[in-house]
Amino acid sequence: MKKILFVSSEAHPLIKTGGLADVSGSLPKALADLGDEVRLIIPNYQAIKTTGDIYYKSTVQLQNAYANLLETRLPGTDVLVWLVDCPQLFGLAGNPYTDAQGQAYANNAERFALFCRIAVEVAMGRGYLDWKPDIVHCNDWQTGLVPALLSLESGRPATVFTIHNMAYQGLFPKQAFSLLNLPRALWHPNGLEFNGSLSFIKGGLAYADRITTVSPTYAEEIQSAEFGYGLEGLLSYRNNDLTGIVNGIDDGQWNSLTDPAIASHYDASSLADKQGNKTALQTRLGLPLAKVPLFALISRLVDQKGIDLLLACLPEMMALPLQFVLLGSGEKQYEQQLVAFAKANPEKMAVTLGYDEDLAHLMEAGADLFLMPSRFEPCGLNQLYSQRYGTPPIVRRCGGLADTVIDTLPETLANNTATGFVFDQASAGSLMEAIKRALFVHSQPKVWQQLQTNGMQKDFSWQNSAKAYQALYAQL
Ligand code: ADP
Repeated sequence: MKKILFVSSEAHPLIKTGGLADVSGSLPKALADLGDEVRLIIPNYQAIKTTGDIYYKSTVQLQNAYANLLETRLPGTDVLVWLVDCPQLFGLAGNPYTDAQGQAYANNAERFALFCRIAVEVAMGRGYLDWKPDIVHCNDWQTGLVPALLSLESGRPATVFTIHNMAYQGLFPKQAFSLLNLPRALWHPNGLEFNGSLSFIKGGLAYADRITTVSPTYAEEIQSAEFGYGLEGLLSYRNNDLTGIVNGIDDGQWNSLTDPAIASHYDASSLADKQGNKTALQTRLGLPLAKVPLFALISRLVDQKGIDLLLACLPEMMALPLQFVLLGSGEKQYEQQLVAFAKANPEKMAVTLGYDEDLAHLMEAGADLFLMPSRFEPCGLNQLYSQRYGTPPIVRRCGGLADTVIDTLPETLANNTATGFVFDQASAGSLMEAIKRALFVHSQPKVWQQLQTNGMQKDFSWQNSAKAYQALYAQL
């Protein structure tokens, strides 16, 4: 049994902007279920949704700042959460990283540096909590200064840094380094400096004892220039300390037999009942109750997700007998183009802009096929949810998509391993070919049902991933 301090800038259901929150909301519980003593530490944002009581625990004093630590539980679990309470930095109206207008907070370096410094005090047993971890598990750039600062401490716990997305690095002008009063010893090209800027993520990549990322394929990809964003050299250098562990899914929340957000419960033995969700989805989104294949996409609308490829396919898709529903938010140009397509094709396409957890569940249950044409995808969760819900995904062969979806081929159909459709090139042509290939298989009900069943029976439980993390902790 290990004592683990899990440091993250978001955790579902307390606060979520993306997959990081899913991981931080699930992995600590999975580790606790396996016997570890886990504490989660996150900033106390204004938008945090707690169901349990919150207690004052202590005040942590830094050189010229302080924060209160509040304690609550991760809703639905026994996992203790420490909220770093500093209203002037975190008690703001927007999301964890951007203001209500979607602009990154100008003081993000200061905000997450304070969060990191408080996490370091807790990690060193200086938080008046009567608790000191064996392992500090950090996640993404917002926590990158933790391994860096801990590297200067004696008697420190071991550190693990998990990369959820190399595209977000926490880069700030050099001046931020002095403004934040960071130790001079950390400023060099093998430290926090990156081409003259301050890089938070390098704090994790250069100083953590072990680095993980969220799929084996992504662990390879980020050692190349295309996906490493200038840090591929450092990652190759640390190759021996770098592993890929695929995320799991939260069975409590993504269970088609119990999901409160869907209209009709079903499993692999009662697939006919999935239809009730399709009808409910079509009705809710104002689409005709047509008996055509229904495609879904749920995503942040950013370049990473291949939205441009989808847009290029839409004219041809709209000419086929199918319907398409999309839920997402992000870049305005994508939002506008998608809404315009839906307006022009009201019988075939419905777009919902915004973030809607319940609709996401109904879409996973109600759609026939799921689209995920990502240019890169560290792990990806929606392709796991869609396999679990009997909604075969169409994905590009990259990162976690390559590791978790088995393409439908004669041999994978024969040995019952096929779970979806995988295409190679990040081009509209390749995506369209995959869509047509999927439609052809969908037209054969027996084969389709086998594909659905294969995906639904795959083990994507967090238990497997948590065991892999435990094996890693054991080496430290
Ligand atoms: P990323 O972390 O890059 O956004 P992932 O696939 O790893 O991508 O995780 C995205 C998570 O956020 C999934 O749980 C997905 O269902 C959810 N999600 C993304 N956009 C929306 C949205 N607009 N409404 C509801 N859930 C969303």
